[in-house]
Amino acid sequence: MTEILRARELARTYDSNGATVLALRGVDIAVEQGELVAVMGPSGCGKSTLLNLLGGLDRPTAGEVFLGGERIDNLSEGERAVIRRHQVGILFQAYNLIGNLTVADNIELPALIAGLSSKEARTRRLALSEELDIADKSDTVPAKLSGGEQQRVAIARALINRPDVLLADEPTGNLDTKNARDVIDLLRSYNADGQTIVLVTHDPRVASAANRIIRMRDGWIVDETRIEDRHDSKAVLSSLMDLEV
Ligand code: ADP
Repeated sequence: MTEILRARELARTYDSNGATVLALRGVDIAVEQGELVAVMGPSGCGKSTLLNLLGGLDRPTAGEVFLGGERIDNLSEGERAVIRRHQVGILFQAYNLIGNLTVADNIELPALIAGLSSKEARTRRLALSEELDIADKSDTVPAKLSGGEQQRVAIARALINRPDVLLADEPTGNLDTKNARDVIDLLRSYNADGQTIVLVTHDPRVASAANRIIRMRDGWIVDETRIEDRHDSKAVLSSLMDLEV
């Protein structure tokens, strides 16, 4: 297996009104190509901080991050932006679409910024829009879409540059049960096709789609469970339901 992501002794502190917050206290993690990893844990335990560091959105206070074998934590903001553009797709709880652009333009923008021709960007966008059942929304602006549709647009945007890893921070956090299930089924299907995914979630039902569940508390990883096959996931789901996560 090829290792896509590795973090070593990752620490991140924040200054908050003069006080130091230890958001991550020394996290080691490795993600293989093709994995779907769920990071769980109570609010404030450092999940988003970890995801931001793995995707090069932020720099650690200490420790190292390797993406595709290349060290990224010591790169400048500009260099990390280039890496993100080509190698990382990101999904947010609040979708973060650009309100005054159409769905088509939202999806194609990262491809154009990454240097793809407008023809190739359009071809990829049309294919993704079909897969994600948003082909009839191309000329619509995000505000006219439901939450589930907006998240599907965000998935298309995140995947258009065929990233090595898709990072998702509470991707179903704003969705009702049905739309949440649809988004999880889509992520699972892209993962079955080989897309590496790391997602952060509170929701055991979301985490039960993963091959591996990492639980965090107070800035540490406290537990890891591998799910070998789908039969395991029901047992893991019921045990997660019993835990305070
Ligand atoms: P989670 O995603 O698990 O809810 P976060 O990674 O968002 O946790 O936050 C971890 C800790 O770091 C929390 O105590 C949070 O309040 C703090 N924190 C996160 N971002 C900042 C920031 N920009 N400034 C100060 N404190 C922060």
